[in-house]
Amino acid sequence: MTPWRVTAVGLPDGRPVEGGIDRHGRWTDTPPADAEPLPGRFVLAGLVDAHCHLSIADGPRPLPLPEARQNLRAAQQAGITLVRDMGSPGAITLQMPLAMEGAGLLPAGRFLAPPGGYFPELYEPVTADDLVQAARDQIAAGARWVKLIGDFPVLDQGVRRPDLVAPTYAIDDVRRLVEAVHAAGGRVAAHTTTAWAADLVAAGVDSIEHGDALTGDALRALAARGGAWTPTLCAVLAPAPADDPARRRRLAERRERLVHLLDEAVRHRVTVLAGTDVVGNLPREVRLLTELGLPPRSALAAASSDARRYLLTGDAAGDFTPGRPANLVTYHDDPRDDPDVLGRPAATFAAGRRLH
Ligand SMILES: [Zn+2]
Repeated sequence: MTPWRVTAVGLPDGRPVEGGIDRHGRWTDTPPADAEPLPGRFVLAGLVDAHCHLSIADGPRPLPLPEARQNLRAAQQAGITLVRDMGSPGAITLQMPLAMEGAGLLPAGRFLAPPGGYFPELYEPVTADDLVQAARDQIAAGARWVKLIGDFPVLDQGVRRPDLVAPTYAIDDVRRLVEAVHAAGGRVAAHTTTAWAADLVAAGVDSIEHGDALTGDALRALAARGGAWTPTLCAVLAPAPADDPARRRRLAERRERLVHLLDEAVRHRVTVLAGTDVVGNLPREVRLLTELGLPPRSALAAASSDARRYLLTGDAAGDFTPGRPANLVTYHDDPRDDPDVLGRPAATFAAGRRLH
């Protein structure tokens, strides 16, 4: 393999990065003399999508394994070298061989939600009695996270009520779930869009997904345990139709609340994670994080170094560690000035292979 030399501005903090990639695709501080310069003036040790669904298309509609694998390859080509898959119909992302995909996939397996508690096309219901065993099964099958649907719009005579969102499981069941998952070495991510978020945090969940009805107190409690929040802004701020003034007003209010919550998250030092969910993409998510008040450097860290440190451990959590398979993406321009730059990589390496 061609060795490469990298001399660039390191992102997100702007420190100079001098090094390269050796013949075996590993990062080195001293590239060989015949190494060629890698294009791009800015370098990031890979983007991180902390909330996506490789096996779900908009609709939502489940995708078969070959398409899920294609989605992962497309993400890697775009410079995303770590993906936390936040739920997969039939747990099919647990069938993606992690060794082959590089270190870049953290799958959660199936969705944990009771009958009537989630999109019917995406899951097999799990009763409260079966909750702990279902979570243990996911971890035994390779899940590093489990995905709890904490609250969801209720079914009213067969019709979903977006205006009426209720908790799915009793809080004691959630507490038992968290204890069992932690004992098995996993972590719990909880989907929530109501004030129930505070109860889920109190019950010990590790990351809050969506969370647009979090409170300052809940964020403080989450921070005290080193927890994280993935606001998935592309999803929760998806545009409302022009002819629906009530929805547009609710959207504007949610946006205001999120500005306030992001400010609280920064003050309490909650790890904020960028996640695209089913409808978003990382350049847009990073742009929304900055529009809602995060400094550009922090918004980019939410989609890279901060997320890596939260999701991984040991050497894998660091950026540009000598001897490790190279994960990086370079850009001709500075994505802190314009997040759209993240959609135009100059070069991409995932798990030591050049993909772009
Ligand atoms: Zn999701």
